[in-house]
Amino acid sequence: MNFNHDENDLLSVKGLNKYYANFHALKNVDITVKKGEIVVICGPSGSGKSTLIRCVNHLEEPNAGEVVFNGTLVKNVEKELQKLRRRVCMVFQNFNLYPHLTVLENCTLAPIWVQNRTRVEAEESALLHLKRVKIPEQAHKYPNQLSGGQQQRVAIARALTMEPELILFDEPTSALDPEMVKEVLDVMIELAKSGQSMICVTHEMGFAKQAADRVIFMAEGEIIEEGSPSAFFENPKTERARDFLSHLM
Ligand code: ADP
Repeated sequence: MNFNHDENDLLSVKGLNKYYANFHALKNVDITVKKGEIVVICGPSGSGKSTLIRCVNHLEEPNAGEVVFNGTLVKNVEKELQKLRRRVCMVFQNFNLYPHLTVLENCTLAPIWVQNRTRVEAEESALLHLKRVKIPEQAHKYPNQLSGGQQQRVAIARALTMEPELILFDEPTSALDPEMVKEVLDVMIELAKSGQSMICVTHEMGFAKQAADRVIFMAEGEIIEEGSPSAFFENPKTERARDFLSHLM
């Protein structure tokens, strides 16, 4: 099958539709993410942002549409989905760390059991990424011994230990106390600069202005606008985007 695949495309989502019973949560959504691109998705609460990125790695099963990752159509078959989730990691709003495992164990669990890497190699890699998010000294603590900002940085290190081709961030700072938001955004900005491909659902417009290559604005399950951060913030095309932005200022 020909997907008109451009070799610079990492992800191509076409005609995505998602229903929750009769509620049409995603309406014919198309997005493309190039290798190394940082895409920010914003929009009012309930507009389908989270549903969209959950459909990308099939945490939610779309009702229609296709997800093509690195030129390969993702089929809804357990083995294929496992393969996809080795390459596309998600960072959640509420961290989703395993409370009974140490920070280091949280980071090495999937590399050992899903990627068949040795414990020694997985631990080396995890420590490197814990250094990158500036908390190597927390490696042997349990999640509940850490602040929210530190837990979210562990979640990012855990994703990085998988060496993913794409990271999906689902409102990574919205569960944090205000004083902890910056430490997480600083890590995300560093990742963006390093060339890590990412899709970030976030209301942190400062992050979008500083780090995004492209901003997608959603409302009521549809993409309403899409463009460079400067075009979107300085010259939004639609009333809905102007209204959304006016409430953030
Ligand atoms: P956003 O991330 O933009 O806030 P979501 O993608 O979380 O929006 O949700 C989009 C819409 O779909 C909302 O109206 C929400 O209530 C609904 N929705 C999301 N998940 C479910 C679900 N599991 N069951 C029923 N409705 C859902």
